[in-house]
Amino acid sequence: MDNYSFDRVKDNLSVICDNISEAYDKYRSDGSKVDIMAVTKTVPPEVVNWVFSLGLDLLGENRVQEFLSKKDSYNKYSDYGTPPRIHFIGHLQTNKVKYIVDDVDMIQSVDSLRLAQEINRLATAHNKVMDVLCEVNIGGEESKSGVSPDELIPLLEQLAPMEGIRVKGLMTIPPPTDSDIFLGKMEELFNNIKDRKLKGISMETLSMGMTHDYVEAVKHGSTLVRIGTGIFGARNYV
Ligand SMILES: *Cc1c(COP(=O)(O)O)cnc(C)c1O
Repeated sequence: MDNYSFDRVKDNLSVICDNISEAYDKYRSDGSKVDIMAVTKTVPPEVVNWVFSLGLDLLGENRVQEFLSKKDSYNKYSDYGTPPRIHFIGHLQTNKVKYIVDDVDMIQSVDSLRLAQEINRLATAHNKVMDVLCEVNIGGEESKSGVSPDELIPLLEQLAPMEGIRVKGLMTIPPPTDSDIFLGKMEELFNNIKDRKLKGISMETLSMGMTHDYVEAVKHGSTLVRIGTGIFGARNYV
């Protein structure tokens, strides 16, 4: 607990909101929204509950085990009676989908047909339609998951008819350097796919931007920024 100052978290969040508003006013005129996600990895549930109580109701989860150990400690409802929206954003192994299918509102990290098929199978069995984003490896980095831009349209076409899945857009983690270039490429790819109006695919969410690049991401059309250290401070890996 000593690592977290509740006041600091509140101040951090207000700075981020200001920065996003400023970038939005400067670069955007399309009326699309920018959602702020709190990325909760390594953050204790009481601190997550604090940001939730401040009105930030979108939470990003990276690791299945960690999420399972924390989720029951998350507040079920805000002061306004609404539940948090929980998105899975980390690399997801096919055999782990079953642990999260009931508890998350979106899976942002779909990067293979096999994973999509398993989400579709389990969501259908649980009478649910799972919102998903396709993760794109826009920098072509070996170390990162995500499909290449070339593989994206074929994958989307395979996902479109699945009844347990609703594709809502794209997610990316660009390379840490030259992020402005890669965020621009991602914006282009997103708009290109949106313009194609693929049957059964909606392109409303572009999830990109983290602590180091969220302002640039807003400039390039991001509708959802995922922020960890910028809100909670440096992660304490133990
Ligand atoms: C950790 C993480 C983030 C947040 O990163 P910060 O640099 O701490 O803001 C965003 N997206 C994903 C997929 C992550 O794993």
